[in-house]
Amino acid sequence: MSDCIFCKIIAGQIPCTKVYEDDACLAFLDIGPISPGHTLVVPKKHYEAVSQMPAEEVAALYRPVAALAAAVKDAVGAEGLNVLQNNGRSAGQAVDHLHVHLIPRWTGDGLGFRWPAKKADMAVLAKQADAIRKCLPS
Ligand code: AMP
Ligand code: ZN
Repeated sequence: MSDCIFCKIIAGQIPCTKVYEDDACLAFLDIGPISPGHTLVVPKKHYEAVSQMPAEEVAALYRPVAALAAAVKDAVGAEGLNVLQNNGRSAGQAVDHLHVHLIPRWTGDGLGFRWPAKKADMAVLAKQADAIRKCLPS
């Protein structure tokens, strides 16, 4: 993708602060960090959403995530860490090249992370699970 900022970073056309690289992915520090050490892990091949990616490529992208999450957390002395991957504008995706956020967290860091959870209706859940199963490839 010629106009994609992350493709340009992967191609070495614009700089990044690299922390890790392998055949499938590149990890670098976010230029607009939410917290110190905020890191992005991006596949070298351009995909917009995780649903468009073949399973083997998703596995290759996530393979280093556990080690990277531990390294990022240790390096900045964080207490916790969010692994986040946004798909679509409604989900907060601004850059249309799939990426995994590693966001170090501290108690009281003010970032917050609360879902407005509702009480589930078990019959509705059963219908939703059925609908999801029907959409899965057999
Ligand atoms: P999202 O909202 O999930 O699409 O997140 C996109 C992230 O990419 C944001 O946190 C940006 O700060 C980050 N970002 C955008 N351009 C660059 C860049 N050139 N280098 C590093 N991070 C970037
Ligand atoms: Zn791209």
